[in-house]
Amino acid sequence: MDVSSLLDGLNDEQREAVGAPQSSMLVLAGAGSGKTRVLTHRIAWLMQVEQQSPYSILAVTFTNKAAAEMRERVEKVSGSNMGRMWIGTFHGLAHRLLRTHYKDANLPQTFQIIDSDDQLRLIKRILKSLHLDEKQYPPRQAQGYINGKKDQGLRPKHIDAGGFPIEQNLLQIYQVYQESCDRAGLVDFAEILLRAHELWLNKPHVLQHYQDRFKNILVDEFQDTNAIQYAWIRVLAGDSANVMIVGDDDQSIYGWRGAQVENLHKFLVDFPKAETIRLEQNYRSTGHILKASNELIANNPERLGKKLWTEDKDGEQISLYCAFNEMDEARFIVGRINDWHDMGGDLSSCAILYRSNAQSRVLEEALLHKGLAYRIYGGLRFFERQEIKDAMSYLRLINNKDDDAAFERVVNTPARGIGGRTLDILRSTARQQELTLWQTCLRALEEKLLSGRAANAVRGFMDLIVEMQQDTDEMTLHRTTDHVIRESGLKAMYEAEKGEKARSRVENLDELVTAARTFIMPEDSEDMGELNAFLSHAALEAGEGQADAFTDAVQLMTLHSAKGLEFPVVFMSGVEEGIFPSQMAMDEGDRLDEERRLCYVGMTRAMEKLYITYAETRRIYGRENFARPSRFIKEIPTEHVEEIRLKTQVTAPQRAKPSFSRSTVVNDTGFKIGQSVMHQKFGEGKVTGTEGSGAQARVQVNFFDVGSKWLVVAYARLETC
Ligand code: ATP
Ligand code: MG
Repeated sequence: MDVSSLLDGLNDEQREAVGAPQSSMLVLAGAGSGKTRVLTHRIAWLMQVEQQSPYSILAVTFTNKAAAEMRERVEKVSGSNMGRMWIGTFHGLAHRLLRTHYKDANLPQTFQIIDSDDQLRLIKRILKSLHLDEKQYPPRQAQGYINGKKDQGLRPKHIDAGGFPIEQNLLQIYQVYQESCDRAGLVDFAEILLRAHELWLNKPHVLQHYQDRFKNILVDEFQDTNAIQYAWIRVLAGDSANVMIVGDDDQSIYGWRGAQVENLHKFLVDFPKAETIRLEQNYRSTGHILKASNELIANNPERLGKKLWTEDKDGEQISLYCAFNEMDEARFIVGRINDWHDMGGDLSSCAILYRSNAQSRVLEEALLHKGLAYRIYGGLRFFERQEIKDAMSYLRLINNKDDDAAFERVVNTPARGIGGRTLDILRSTARQQELTLWQTCLRALEEKLLSGRAANAVRGFMDLIVEMQQDTDEMTLHRTTDHVIRESGLKAMYEAEKGEKARSRVENLDELVTAARTFIMPEDSEDMGELNAFLSHAALEAGEGQADAFTDAVQLMTLHSAKGLEFPVVFMSGVEEGIFPSQMAMDEGDRLDEERRLCYVGMTRAMEKLYITYAETRRIYGRENFARPSRFIKEIPTEHVEEIRLKTQVTAPQRAKPSFSRSTVVNDTGFKIGQSVMHQKFGEGKVTGTEGSGAQARVQVNFFDVGSKWLVVAYARLETC
C-alpha cells in the first residue's frame, strides 16, 4: 500500500500525529476531531512505514465493539490481516494474559470469570458465614468496597482499617471473599485487572517478555482510565515503549466509577518526552451543533481548554421541544423518526439517548405502538430486566398461584430461607404427584414433608401471596403493582443495596407503577381483567426480544453508552432538572461538572440533526413531577436553537399531526384539550391529548384517581362535564 494514502483524508495536525517519529504522544482533542481515526491510521502507519510487526502492537479501546471496529478499520487502511495484533479492552487483554500465564498468576488453568451478580451472591454467603447483618452491611456496598479497593490496586494486606469497626468488617469481608474466590478459582472483573498488574510486579520474566514485545502501545478514551489500568500500562511501557494516548478531558464521564482524569496529567509527568498534539477541527457535526456544544462545556471550570471549529455549514439549528408530558415527548420523538423513515432514512441512523435506564420504557412503548424496530444498546428492554421480571412474577402469582415459572423465580427472592434442598424436595414431589409447585407446598405442609424451619419459610411465602391477593382484590392496577412491589420486599431489597445498578433497579420498579397507571386495556380484552391484560402485555413486549443485529432499528441507549459513537440524527430526551442533571448530581455539587460533560458527550454524538426534548410534567419512577427545563438548555445560546412551537390552531385535519396536536379547538375526536370529562370506571379527568379520527379516534385523559390513559372514543363512553 502506498504510504501517502495512509495520510490521505487527514488534516495537518492529524498527519503530524499519524506520521510522527516513534515516540510517546498525547493527542488531546474534543469530540469528533478524529482521535479514534488518528489512532487507527497510526497503527497502520507503524506497520507500513515503520515496519513494525502487528505482533509489537497493543491497542486498547473502551468497548469490545470499538475493538472490533478498530480491527476492521486498520485492516481496511493497511490491507493486511491483523490476526496477531493485540487489540481489545483493558479487561479483554488482561484476561488473555491471565489465560496464557495462569500459573504465574497463581490461578488454576480452569479459572472462571464471575459477573457482578455472581459476585453479589458470593458476598451474601460470606456475610452469612461471618454473622454480619445484611441490613448493616448491604451486600452491594460491600461489593463496591471490594471493587473500589481492587481498582486502586489494594489487597487486604495493604489496607489499614484503623479503629473503625465498619471499615474493619468490610475489610474482613474483602479478605474472606478473596480467599473463597481463590479456593474456587473464581475471578471477578476488578480482579482481572489487579491480577494482571500483579503479574507484571511479581514475575519479572513475564514482564520482560511483554516489554520486549509491545514496543507500541495505543490507548483510546484515555480520560476514563482508572488507577489500576493506568498502572498496568505504565509498568508495561517501562522506559522503552512508545505510548500514544488519545483522550478528551471534557468527555470524562466515569469519575463516579473511579476513573481519574488526572491520568492525563500523570502521563505527561511519567513520559516527559511525550509531545502533545491538539486537534481542533471537528468533522462530525454541523456548525450549530458544534458551537452549541462548545458553549455548553465552556461553563465547566478547570478544563484543559480547547476550541473546536468546523468547515461544515451551520446546518439545521438544534430543535428544542417542550412536551406536555413524557408520553407526548415519546410520541414526538417517534413521530419524527417515522417521518425520517418515510423519507427514506434508515432507522439505525437515529439514536435516542437518555440519562437513566428507566426512561426507556415510555419510548419503547411508543416505538412498539408505531411498529418501528428498535434495539437497546448495551442493555435489556424494560420488561426483560431482572427486577421487572421479579415484580411481574409476584403479580403473576397473585393472578394465578399455580404459575410455576413465577413461583420458581421469586419463592426465595428476596431471600426468605427457602434453600436449594427444600426446592429440590418440592420439585421432585411435584413431578411425582403431577402437581404444581403451589399445590405441592400445600400438600407438603399438610403431610409434613419438610423440616420445621423449611416448612415455616414456605408457609411464610404462601401467606404473603395469599395476603397480597386479598389486599389487592379491590385495588386499581397501579395500586396493586405498587403494593406488591413493597409488600413482597423487592423494593426494600434493592433499596438496601448501594451503587448505580441497584439505584437503577429501584427506579425501574417505580417506573413499573407508572407503566401500570398508564396501561390501556386493548379493546379486545375487556373481559380478561386488567391485571391479566397487563401481564399479557408485559409478556408480549418481553417476548419480542431485541431486534437482531441485521435488522434496521432505532438505537436506544443511555448517554454513558453513547461515548465514542456517532449518529446522523440524535434525540436527547428528558433534559430536565432532576433528571439531567440527575437529582443526585444536583445534591452533590462537584458532580454537576461531570453531568455537563455527559451532556457534551450526548450533544456531540449528533452529525446532522440534534433534538433536545423535555416535558413539563413527567410521571417517572411512579411519581408525577412538574419539571423545569435543564440548566444545560439555558446554557446553549438561543441562536443555535429553534423552539418547536405547538400549533394553536388546527386548520385542516390532515395537517393536524397526531404527535403535535395540542389544539385548543375541537378536533376530529370531538374533544378538546383541557376539557373535563367523566368515565364510568375511572372517574373524572381532563383531556390532555387527541389523535386519529372516526373509529380510530382516541383521547388521552388524565384522570384524577388513576392517572393518564388513552381511550378509544367509540368505546369509552366519556361524558363531558
Ligand atoms: P470522540 O471524541 O467522540 O470519540 P473522535 O475524536 O474519536 O470522537 P472520530 O470518531 O475519530 O472522532 O471522528 C469523527 C468523525 O469524523 C468520523 O466520522 C471520522 O471518520 C471523521 N473524520 C475524522 N477526521 C477526518 C478528516 N480529516 N477528514 C474527514 N473526516 C474525518
Ligand atoms: Mg473516539
